[in-house]
Amino acid sequence: MSGSKKTIIRVILIIVLVCFFLPFVTVSCSGKPVETFSGLNLVFGGKYHIADNLGLGDMGSSGTSSGYGPQFFVLLAFLAGIVALAVTFMKKGKSLLLSGVMAVLGLISTILSTINISGQSKSESSELGSVLSGSLLQVRYNIGFYLILLGFAGTAAYIFYSIYSKPVTNIRADNPVYINQDPPRFCSNCGSSVTPGNDFCVNCGQKIE
Ligand SMILES: [Zn+2]
Repeated sequence: MSGSKKTIIRVILIIVLVCFFLPFVTVSCSGKPVETFSGLNLVFGGKYHIADNLGLGDMGSSGTSSGYGPQFFVLLAFLAGIVALAVTFMKKGKSLLLSGVMAVLGLISTILSTINISGQSKSESSELGSVLSGSLLQVRYNIGFYLILLGFAGTAAYIFYSIYSKPVTNIRADNPVYINQDPPRFCSNCGSSVTPGNDFCVNCGQKIE
């Protein structure tokens, strides 16, 4: 694995991690954007104020803010990105494969987070059904979500392409001696190795066939 390939992988993974600061999802109610969450909002959890954003602030502040916990799959994707980046700094030979596996894990987690987020917004809409008079919350995925998805997919594809194409170039590099020369020969009489090109054994004088 050359250093330049690792540098490319590191740059992509750093971009992926930075994308967790970008808008990840926007939750809308009846087409009206209620709240936008970055990837990091979803990683660590937090609070949002549904009623304030819908202009229902006069209904009382106590019941209008909701907390939400860390989203498991977004957290998993974030951690996978960090581990994938960290292992590229390891000297071990398998570090690239591990980084690729982590990128795949990040990709799958990001995809699975859509089920989690959409499912949760549906359950919240039923809880708040009386307040919101039957309107449904819609989830729209933003630039951060798509860039993270693209970044993990690109990292995984690049790493596994590198691993797959590596043995083809290494067969010649590992065995340079045998390309233009005969394999080593041994004397049939005494077993000594025979210098290529010699007709007789240097040790016992036996003729080499
Ligand atoms: Zn010999």
